[in-house]
Amino acid sequence: MPPPPHSRAHPQRARRDGGGRYSLWRLLREGVNGQRGWSHAWAKATPRPAYRVIVVGGGGHGLATAFYLAAEFGIRDVAVLEKGPIGLGNVGRNTTIIRSNYFHPANIRFYDFSLRLWESLERRLNFNAMVSQRGTLNLFHTEAQRDLFTRRANQMRLLGVDAEALSREAVKRVVPLVDLDNGRYPVLGGFLQPRGGTVRHDAVAWGYARAASQAGVDIVEHCEVTGLRRCGARVIGVESTRGFIAADTVCLAVAGHSSRLAAMAGVPLPIETHVLQAFVSEAIKPLLDVVLTYGAGHFYVSQSDKGGLVFGGAIDGYNSYAQRGTLPMAEEVAAAAVTLLPGLARLKVLRQWGGVMDMTMDGSPIISRLPVDGLILNGGWCYGGFKAIPAGGFTTAHLIAHGAPHPLAAHLDLGRFAAGRTVDERGAGPFPYLH
Ligand SMILES: Cc1cc2nc3c(=O)[nH]c(=O)nc-3n(C[C@H](O)[C@H](O)[C@H](O)COP(=O)(O)OP(=O)(O)OC[C@H]3O[C@@H](n4cnc5c(N)ncnc54)[C@H](O)[C@@H]3O)c2cc1C
Repeated sequence: MPPPPHSRAHPQRARRDGGGRYSLWRLLREGVNGQRGWSHAWAKATPRPAYRVIVVGGGGHGLATAFYLAAEFGIRDVAVLEKGPIGLGNVGRNTTIIRSNYFHPANIRFYDFSLRLWESLERRLNFNAMVSQRGTLNLFHTEAQRDLFTRRANQMRLLGVDAEALSREAVKRVVPLVDLDNGRYPVLGGFLQPRGGTVRHDAVAWGYARAASQAGVDIVEHCEVTGLRRCGARVIGVESTRGFIAADTVCLAVAGHSSRLAAMAGVPLPIETHVLQAFVSEAIKPLLDVVLTYGAGHFYVSQSDKGGLVFGGAIDGYNSYAQRGTLPMAEEVAAAAVTLLPGLARLKVLRQWGGVMDMTMDGSPIISRLPVDGLILNGGWCYGGFKAIPAGGFTTAHLIAHGAPHPLAAHLDLGRFAAGRTVDERGAGPFPYLH
């Protein structure tokens, strides 16, 4: 009997096929034919002894980096090594928000590049990632906050990025459920970025994995990197649970595990790991058609296409690698929710979970060469790395392919910490738990 089309015996064939092209015509054809023509979206590769580039971590950034390396920069001799199944890290645990409403001009440019890539991503990957530009609305509650948000919005508009100021009345029209005069922090108004919104998070991992695999990348699941092998000042490959694999370049894209992995090559990073939690409620009828953030506490909420309200809060505030929820955070987030939206008081929360965040000292990410030749870092995403996946992957691939940073990510180099060029959006200082 011939092996199935996507078994390990036929990696090349699986790559070329990649489940075929998805289209309305294909859906109709498969419907008529009893859905028998579908196959695995990406090939389950076994690692080869050597690659030009190894990307460690099959999250959003690792998969996007591999995809752009192959599809944009012509480097196809690439493997993504993921310790579990792909997509179970933060890429599948976040609250799915995308936006580019930042303060620093360099950050606005970087995140808006990402937003523009999101806008064409589904066509680029031939995959439905449910990109929904429903708008992100940030509320403000003090005059000082109004000033700060106004500066940010002006900065965005100067750079050609969308931002609109909303009065209290306009906020009420967009989200009738908001209690404008809540006793703790009355709402004075809001700023809307209409192009912000949400994307189905695990579809992002699947879409990039499928497209990368089709472009020739080996996606190796259940392959944990346990060491980085050096020869003098150069990295020459990785030790893994599936043996030693050689590489000219090793790119770390392991989010909350960044400092652990870099330490394997003897490189200390200005990154701490903290837990960030999210919650989802029972499904209810359509109630909220923007992403809403509370300016007087760390609380944000959107409604998923299944009807559940998805909300999140701040990080726990102490170092941890535990990917789980805690009761104090459930209480804090629920308190913020009912302060702002009292109508939610009797809503039932179905699930709560956590992910491990790579929090940097200035709250901005690091896309940089590390001080070991051949070793690259895509990390330090704090709790904003989902929106940055397309731009993070693209600019990391550019750095690997050209040996020089992409102009839009040049400010995110590791050297900024030693040189005092930190990119501190909140002006909170070198305290990861405050960013
Ligand atoms: C609750 C929550 C809400 C969030 N909300 C948002 C949001 O709304 N918007 C936003 O922009 N961002 C948000 N984020 C942040 C965002 O999800 C992350 O910054 C981003 O996903 C990190 O990049 P990644 O996808 O590559 O990480 P991950 O998906 O975590 O990928 C890293 C991968 O590396 C693998 N790995 C680790 N160690 C090894 C090893 N030794 N060998 C092999 N593989 C290894 C892990 O298994 C993992 O799959 C949120 C995060 C959480 C947890």
